[in-house]
Amino acid sequence: MPGKKHTIVVGTNNRHKFDEIKAILADVENVELVPLSAFSNVPPIDESAKTFAGNASKKATELARFLSMLGRLSFANQSTSQDDDTDFEALAGERARTSGRHKKVTVGPGSGRQPAVPKPKNLDLLVMADDSGLEVDALNGAPGVLSARYAGKHGDDAANNRLLLQNLKGVPGGKRKARFVCEIALACADGLLFGVRGAVEGMIVDEPRGSGGFGYDPLFLYPPRGKTFGELDAATKNQISHRSRALAKFKEELKKLLPTA
Ligand code: IMP
Repeated sequence: MPGKKHTIVVGTNNRHKFDEIKAILADVENVELVPLSAFSNVPPIDESAKTFAGNASKKATELARFLSMLGRLSFANQSTSQDDDTDFEALAGERARTSGRHKKVTVGPGSGRQPAVPKPKNLDLLVMADDSGLEVDALNGAPGVLSARYAGKHGDDAANNRLLLQNLKGVPGGKRKARFVCEIALACADGLLFGVRGAVEGMIVDEPRGSGGFGYDPLFLYPPRGKTFGELDAATKNQISHRSRALAKFKEELKKLLPTA
């Protein structure tokens, strides 16, 4: 007899991340994953914290507060009662029908990770959110939380990579240590439940190598393989990445929080 199901809203609009998270959490029996796109009028969350942990917990807690305000829990439970794939079209239709009902949201400031709340009674609706990026020791941790917009424009990977190489010009090989970091937070309406961190250590090479992946992958050498992430095939990268390491820890913490009845 299966235990009670918990709904986890995945706080990303990136379908690939949603699918990756869904695949890794597939064997956690008592949770249903719902994409953020299932909800209407979700305000953009300002990623203004100074750390990955701060941003991940800020996104998760603010979204959890917003979604609980929406009072959409019954819809979320209904819409995800099947065990198979989430029906994105149906969710989008529901979203369109209900849009405009809930306009006002107040999203507060915050720059650090919130302390976790004691385990609340109501864990029916949960939100997970992540933040990730690259830290380079010789640059005091930059690009850090600015990874996506290091050179100014959000998501301009080529410009970000050029700037990174420029800023590391003349820095010798032994001093080009770097790591990819991924933080994932889980929150409910009362606040943060837990946060986990996954990291993978490497070096920044002095010119791009390989055409796989995205972001800083062509510059990030993974010494155990002697290849950059841009040279590794996707399956290999996904096994060793900061994201998969964080997700593995997330899964363990989730199982402790929501043991099967
Ligand atoms: P996000 O938090 O997943 O949106 O990632 C923020 C930024 O960090 C991305 O735009 C990339 O520049 C960088 N980043 C995060 N993960 C990776 C990765 O696996 N490979 C390369 N770059 C990454």
